[in-house]
Amino acid sequence: MQISLSISTSNIPCFLKPQEPTSEFSSKLSFSTARRVGGGGGGGGGLKISLGNHDSALFALKGSGLLSSMGRVIEEEEKYRKARAEVQRKGIDLKGYLIEGVSIGGHETCIVVPRLNAAFDIGKCPSRAIHQDFLFITHGHLDHIGGLPMYVATRGLYSLKPPTIFVPPCIKEDVEKLFDLYRSMGQVDLELDLVALDVGETYEIRNDLVVRPFKTDHVIPSQGYVLYSVRKKLKMQYKHLQGKKLEKLKHSGVEITDIMLSPELAFTGDTTSEFLLNPRSADALRAKVLITEATFLDDEISVEQAREHGHTHLYELMEHAQWIRNEAILLTHFSSRYKIEDIREAVLKLQPKVSGKVVALTEGFKSMYS
Ligand SMILES: [Zn+2]
Ligand SMILES: [Zn+2]
Repeated sequence: MQISLSISTSNIPCFLKPQEPTSEFSSKLSFSTARRVGGGGGGGGGLKISLGNHDSALFALKGSGLLSSMGRVIEEEEKYRKARAEVQRKGIDLKGYLIEGVSIGGHETCIVVPRLNAAFDIGKCPSRAIHQDFLFITHGHLDHIGGLPMYVATRGLYSLKPPTIFVPPCIKEDVEKLFDLYRSMGQVDLELDLVALDVGETYEIRNDLVVRPFKTDHVIPSQGYVLYSVRKKLKMQYKHLQGKKLEKLKHSGVEITDIMLSPELAFTGDTTSEFLLNPRSADALRAKVLITEATFLDDEISVEQAREHGHTHLYELMEHAQWIRNEAILLTHFSSRYKIEDIREAVLKLQPKVSGKVVALTEGFKSMYS
């Protein structure tokens, strides 16, 4: 049996590349390059080592400790490959919702859910947000609203219909003023339907989809949004009736169905962990998918500091995990101080505490290998 170990040097993490300053490890790697055995050399700088019938080569490899070194290289390469895949991943499928976007605390947040024709917050204006007709703004910080004029202008440029933009009522006037300024400065039409939607109010987006804001807790006024699917269910008292009789009743103007709202997806935007304890946020915590924030992940920033800044610490999500009933949780808005590996570790810590699947949105974050 022949075992082949292929290593493309172009994929080896930079600190393992042969041209890096000589270390014990890299000198072993250079040695193995010189002693290329069996199987021929892979092109493009690739290194291929075959083990098996080449007893003397195997002996030499064992004797030099190269096998364990090679194992380490392969392990590192695999870690690197995974990290790159995380960086390049363009969408996350959660419970039938493909979710795209970017969310880096203080820099930009925009979450796009094409199945709902919706984007949540718009710190900058990623191109994939432009084609969503509905935009939900949680609060007035620039990393959540800075891309709004471009979103509206670019839709105009593409002759897309004016978008419907939901904002907390307290910022509606300012947003209107902002658009007036952009219109006057650029002498352009900027068309939008701006809706001030308050906590507790309901707005019908489609006949099978409604939205309700819920209270969040940040350093400035803020709110999250729950999107509900709408189903009609025959009222209990009419269940025994046959089709024709039901039709007749319906045509006579009797309402024969109850409307059932089922929370599908909730987005918090920036918030302290307070919403986890507010009974009025219960729907957000039982939606199929919860998109929430975990700006801080470790001991360098305390829970108290996170609260002072109006954000959630991972430790609080862990502490109050019993209230999180969602089938999937997407963590967002990590501080830019973190690397993908730190974020992945955070997911591993939270996952055992909740029954739903926990995923982190890591687009735009650096890996410790990049
Ligand atoms: Zn933010
Ligand atoms: Zn904020």
